[in-house]
Amino acid sequence: MIELLFLLLPVAAAYGYVMGKNSAKNLAHEQNRKITSEYSKGLKFLLDREEDQGLEHLIKLLEVSADSVEHYLTLATLFRKRGELDRAIKIHELLIEQPNLDIELVKSCRLELAKDYIMAGLLDGAESNLVVLVKAGFEDALEPMIQLYSQTRDWQKGVNMYEAYSELFSDKASCAAIANFYCEVALESSDTQYLERATKLNHQAIRPLYELGLDAHERQDNVKAIYYWRKLTSEFPQIAPLVVHDLQSCYASLNISDDFYGLIEELLPNAGVTIKIKHCQGLVESGRVAEAIEFLTDSLKREPSIRGFSYLLQLLSTKNVKIQDVLEEIDHLVTSYISTKPDYQCNKCGFTSHKLYWLCPSCKTWESVVPSRGLDGY
Ligand SMILES: [Zn+2]
Repeated sequence: MIELLFLLLPVAAAYGYVMGKNSAKNLAHEQNRKITSEYSKGLKFLLDREEDQGLEHLIKLLEVSADSVEHYLTLATLFRKRGELDRAIKIHELLIEQPNLDIELVKSCRLELAKDYIMAGLLDGAESNLVVLVKAGFEDALEPMIQLYSQTRDWQKGVNMYEAYSELFSDKASCAAIANFYCEVALESSDTQYLERATKLNHQAIRPLYELGLDAHERQDNVKAIYYWRKLTSEFPQIAPLVVHDLQSCYASLNISDDFYGLIEELLPNAGVTIKIKHCQGLVESGRVAEAIEFLTDSLKREPSIRGFSYLLQLLSTKNVKIQDVLEEIDHLVTSYISTKPDYQCNKCGFTSHKLYWLCPSCKTWESVVPSRGLDGY
């Protein structure tokens, strides 16, 4: 019954408004009488469980009072939250049909209607409404439109939408989505032109450069593979581990391994452990093993890493170092690694922490947070 009380809010608002306007008193009284009578009818229908008629009746009031649209939108949201999607749809559909509604408000209602349809699994209905909004230049429709096409795997439709309305795609996330749509079309059609087009969006995405490099690498076009993957690693250093191994073999095939280590050095300032190990391998290849050990030890002290430890052990075993020194170094590194790991873990929800909680802050279970187990646990 909450929604019924809710519907009375506009009546109260209209009543206050009407009472405040003395100069137009008679007209206002007449308007107020109309609103109240329509509300009574609408509420009566609802109370009699003739819900569709009730809603339709209440929506009619919009012609009298456009101010109440917000209330209907909130009411529809309430229905949607409760899973009563048919009622939410009904309200949004009726609102859209209102001839006197502000154009921006109609767009918002249509967007909400599309969201109802998506929740109800009526994807065609959602698509047709979202298409109307995108054509009208309504940017808020882009995200649900992209999500819908991702869900239905209609990559080509997404690409077409982007090419027709590219000026709407100004943010990074929507460009990344469209870039991936291009990649999917390229893979389905084996046409790398789509990958090239995907590199020319407003924001550079990761995957087009990755796929272009991969395609070149598979065709053994090492020069092109290096071109795309260099661009990829310089723009997205965090992605470097994905390609660094194949990239190294491209350079090796062209007999220019020195250039590869030059690239690794460029990447070092923001590098993860994979790039650091490559750097060490370069030092080892040029006979500078002690320097590699020093570099890696120093880096592991600041940023402990299991892969780093593993490679350090390999390095130490190749060099004639006193076993006592090696053991001390390893103990030091392992201790600092363990100190970065959470001491406690909830056995209900997996929440981890350095502090002991008797009540899990995440799942609110008592005594479920216990000393953690596993590779680095207790
Ligand atoms: Zn928990």
